[in-house]
Amino acid sequence: MTTESALRADIVEVGRRMYARGYTASNDGNISARLGDDRLVMTPKSVCKGFMTPDMMCITDLAGKKLQGDRDPSSEMLMHLEVYRQRPDVRAVVHAHPPIATGFAVAGIPLNRAVLAEVLCTLGSIPIADYATPSTAELPAAVGKYVKAHDGMLLANHGALTMGADIMSAYYKMETVEHFAKISLVARMLGGERLLSRDEVTRLEKLRGSYGIAAPAPICPEPLDAARLDCQVVQAPPSAAGERLVPDTASARQRPPAPSGSHVGPDEEIRLTYSELTALIEDAVRQLK
Ligand SMILES: [Zn+2]
Repeated sequence: MTTESALRADIVEVGRRMYARGYTASNDGNISARLGDDRLVMTPKSVCKGFMTPDMMCITDLAGKKLQGDRDPSSEMLMHLEVYRQRPDVRAVVHAHPPIATGFAVAGIPLNRAVLAEVLCTLGSIPIADYATPSTAELPAAVGKYVKAHDGMLLANHGALTMGADIMSAYYKMETVEHFAKISLVARMLGGERLLSRDEVTRLEKLRGSYGIAAPAPICPEPLDAARLDCQVVQAPPSAAGERLVPDTASARQRPPAPSGSHVGPDEEIRLTYSELTALIEDAVRQLK
C-alpha cells in the first residue's frame, strides 16, 4: 500500500468510527492529513463521514488549491490550513461535534480543570476558541490563537478540533476530549470535581511523554494569566497541607448561601422577581464553570 492509499484508508476508517460513536451527524466533521511536504489529503464537502470511500478524498496544496479529486474539499479547509501553517509537527487534523464536549463548548465552559492524570499528561488543557462563523476566515483566526500550545480545543457553539502526528493519534485525542467531557459532566452532576493540587500537576507534568503523546506546550505557572498563549492554563489549586486532591473551593465560594429560617415545603409556591430568578440562574451557571 502506498502512503497515499494508506492515508485515504485511515481517513475512511476514522470517519466511520466518528459517525458510529455519534461524534458527527449527517455530513458534519472533517479530517485531513499531510501527504508529503507540500500536499494534503482531505475529506470532501457534503458527505456523511460514516459512509466514505477512499476515492472520494481531495488532494490540495498547502494553500488549499485543489489538485486532484472529483469533489470539492471540506468547507472547513481554512481551519485545517491554519493548523498546518502554525504547526509543522502536526500531520493530521480532525474536526467533529461530539455531543458532550460540544455541550461544554455551547455553555462556554473550557475543559481546563486538573482532574485526570491521563489528560494532563497528554492533551493538557482544552481551551475554547472564540465563536466564529463556520467555514469563514473567522474560524482559522479564532483557532489560530490556541493552536501553538494545544493539541485539542473546543470551538465555541460549534464542536471540537484535535491534531496529531498521524490520523489515528489526532482521532484518539478527539476520543479523549469527549471522554473527559463526559466524566466532567458526571462529576458535576454528582456535586463537583475534586481537583488535583498544583504540586500534583507539577509532578504529572514531569511524566509527560510517558503515555506516548506529549502536549505541545508546558502548563502555565501560578499565578494564572488567561491571556498567555505560550502555555496551558490549568485550574489546579495550591494545597497548604500537601493534599493531592483539593475541593473545588473556587466554585464553592460562588454558591449562594443556604436559605436560613425559611420553612417552604416542597409543594409550596414561592414568588421571585425577574431579577432574583435571573440571579439564581446565573449562580447555577457559574457553579458549573
Ligand atoms: Zn463543524
